[in-house]
This record gives sequence, structure tokens and C-alpha cells, in this order.
Amino acid sequence: MKIGFIGLGSMGVGMARNLMRASHTITVYNRTRAKAEAFGKEGAAVANTPAEAAREAEAVFTMLADDTAVEEVVLGPDGIASALPVGSIHLSCSTISVLFARKLAEEHGNRNQGFVSSPVFGRPDAAEAKRLLVILAGDQKLIERCRPLAEAIGRQTFVLGSQPWHANALKLCGNFMIVSMIEAFGEAFAVMRKTGIQEQQFLNVMAELFGSPVYKNYGTTIVERNFEPAGFALKLGLKDVRQALELGGEVGAPMPLASILRDQFVSALAHGQETLDWSSVALVAARAAGLDSKSAA
Ligand code: NAP
Repeated sequence: MKIGFIGLGSMGVGMARNLMRASHTITVYNRTRAKAEAFGKEGAAVANTPAEAAREAEAVFTMLADDTAVEEVVLGPDGIASALPVGSIHLSCSTISVLFARKLAEEHGNRNQGFVSSPVFGRPDAAEAKRLLVILAGDQKLIERCRPLAEAIGRQTFVLGSQPWHANALKLCGNFMIVSMIEAFGEAFAVMRKTGIQEQQFLNVMAELFGSPVYKNYGTTIVERNFEPAGFALKLGLKDVRQALELGGEVGAPMPLASILRDQFVSALAHGQETLDWSSVALVAARAAGLDSKSAA
């Protein structure tokens, strides 16, 4: 398939690479051109604008930071929407708000272009290793065309139904679950340290108890204070918590825990953690307990 891929950040690089490995023909665009040119050396064509990457594409992926970035790339001058052929599909993989996902569906619908929300779970190493979980929602016929693309970037595909924004709602609540776990680790580690029990000893038991790589991997990252380079930057994590709160507000489902998490992120930002991994939000609880947030001692 002829594919446009926009956004060669931490996640996008691995995803685009796996699409090439699956023998698709890729044209890439990235705001910072050097990243696209580096990728071009791996065999992709490099576009000067998002429109150029979309012009002949049967499907175009976006994997960008946030709503603003996607809006610029899709609806801005030389944006995807101005060039994507009628009937071709925009797969939107970024974690964006449900409101904006609805707007994208409408904008593409008005132009007779397809739109499928396709957010993913998994960190950059999972993107590189084709281990992502891919959530698809949109028109059934479009989903069937997208399925091989989802299978090229992930280990499992989940199809939600015909409303694209449902996939974004699921993704936001999934990230809320992950960050709740991170906060719980932060608080529990602080208590353990005050009792004199090592964080690693606590983690060994929890990793066994919960039996999930998500617990084990995030727990280890926190114990080792391995927050740089960020796999997922803290400022993007705050975006997701805010978007989950908006969603809860819209549908009338309070998320008191998410409100607390938002304040923990605000505190982390105030302590200069913007570019650290989002799991560093666990340090907020350590600081609140009067503990050194840099070392485990
Ligand atoms: P990232 O490394 O920060 O990359 C962001 C990408 O967006 C870069 O290509 C960046 O271009 C581009 N961008 C940002 N602002 C832009 C703008 N105004 N106009 C055009 N391009 C812009 O982020 P990431 O970690 O890959 O995450 C990408 C998306 O996936 C986010 O929505 C995130 O929430 C979601 N996600 C992340 C993870 C993870 O673990 N990292 C997992 C699942 C989902 P430049 O290169 O020019 O800066």
C-alpha cells in the first residue's frame, strides 16, 4: 500500500519502520526535517509538507504530540486534508481529545476522505518491536482496509465499532489506569522507604502479585530513577490526564482520582520534570514524604 506517515517522534519512528518492513511504500513528513531525512536513508521518500505525504497515499498515519500538532498537520496550510485523495484513509494514532477526534471525523467526512481513530498502547521500544496494542474505531469497511496496517505495527488489534472517538475515549481511560498505578507506586515506595524496606523488595512482590509487564517495567523504571531520556514525556502525560478529566466531565462520570493525578503532574512540572518520563510523577510522593527524590536511599 502507498502510505504517508507524519510524525517521526519517539513512537512514530518504530511504527513507520514496521510499515516499511511489511513492504508498504512510505512517504514521511516531520516538522523537524532532519528526522525525516535520517529516516529517508532507510528507504522512505521524504515529503516537504504533510500535503505532499498524503497526495498519493491510500492511507496516511499521524503520530503527533497533541491536538494542536494534529490540527496544524491535518487542517493547516498544506495539511493532509487538503490533499488526501477521496476514499483514502487518515489513521490517527496520537493520543488526542475526544472532541478533536470528532472534529477530524467531520472534516474528513466533508471531503469524502476516510477517518479511523487508531490510538496505541505501548512505549517506544514496543513500537520498534511491533508489540503495540492497536485500538481501531470507525466505519466497518474502512476498518477492514486498516486491519493489515494495524497488524504491521502491533501485536494485537482491538476493534471498537463505528464511532472513531470511542477509540480515543478508551485510550484516555487506559492511560488513566497506567498513571494511577504509577502514583500508587510512588506513594507505596515512599512508605516502604520510611519503614526501611527497600523499594526493589516491594517491587519484587508486586510484580509477582499483579503479573503484568506494565507493573514490572514501570516499577523498575521508578526504582532505578531511569527517567531520561523520556519514553513518554511528563508534559504529554499531563495532557492525557486533562483529556481524561474532560471526557469524564462530558459524559457525567466523575474521576476524583484523575483530579488528584492532575495536581501531582502540576507539582512535578513545578519541580522541573517536564522533559523527564511521565513515570517520574512518582517522585512527587517521595518529596511530600520529605525523602530525597533522586536516590532510593
Ligand atoms: P514525541 O517524541 O514528542 O514526538 C512528537 C511528534 O509530534 C514529533 O514528530 C514532533 O515533531 C511532532 N510535533 C509536535 N508538535 C508539532 C506541531 N505543532 N506541528 C507538527 N508536528 C509537531 O511524542 P511521542 O512520545 O512519539 O508521542 C506521540 C503521540 O503518541 C502522543 O500523542 C502521545 O501521547 C502518544 N503516545 C505516546 C506513547 C509513548 O510511550 N511515548 C505511547 C502511546 C501513545 P518534531 O520532531 O519537529 O518535534
